[in-house]
Amino acid sequence: MGILIFWDNDVERGIRESAEKMISVILDMPVNSQENPVMLRGYDRTRNQNDASRILGDMQDFYTRRMGCGNSILIVTGKDLYIQGRDFVFGLARPGVNVSIVSNARLRNSWYGRQDNADDMTDRLVKEGTHELCHCMGLDHCEDPECIMYCPQTLDELDRKKKTLCEKCSQELNIYRFSDLAD
Ligand SMILES: [Zn+2]
Ligand SMILES: [Zn+2]
Repeated sequence: MGILIFWDNDVERGIRESAEKMISVILDMPVNSQENPVMLRGYDRTRNQNDASRILGDMQDFYTRRMGCGNSILIVTGKDLYIQGRDFVFGLARPGVNVSIVSNARLRNSWYGRQDNADDMTDRLVKEGTHELCHCMGLDHCEDPECIMYCPQTLDELDRKKKTLCEKCSQELNIYRFSDLAD
């Protein structure tokens, strides 16, 4: 059991290693990574966004066909994402097949007309990437606004979250961890 991160080529290399380390510490699990091997389809020209459900569908095919391991997979992309019925999503997870995606397009200060800052962006990416990975491991949304599993609607709500799980969510993650070992 572990985490596998697929970095899309439009995500800057400078932030990757520190983001991986932080996610590994929060989840207390090993994190491996590689360049994203999957073409990200589902581009909608009128929206200038990619359909996150479509990408996870492709991932599901890739995963079941070629990856026989028990890793939870997270794709990190710079492409802005949407799903039907929503203007945008920061990320999306498909727990049954252990695949998820997160976009850093809206995690940059410059998206909101502010000065970019690599640390801000890395922090947000770690929170939202860990959030999607926890969905893969069976965790649901949390009402604690400081917990990683809180579902933020805005950047400010995202920034209010800490890079930790609340006690309740930590316990749920432990149940996942230990039930997996007992299998
Ligand atoms: Zn969520
Ligand atoms: Zn929580």
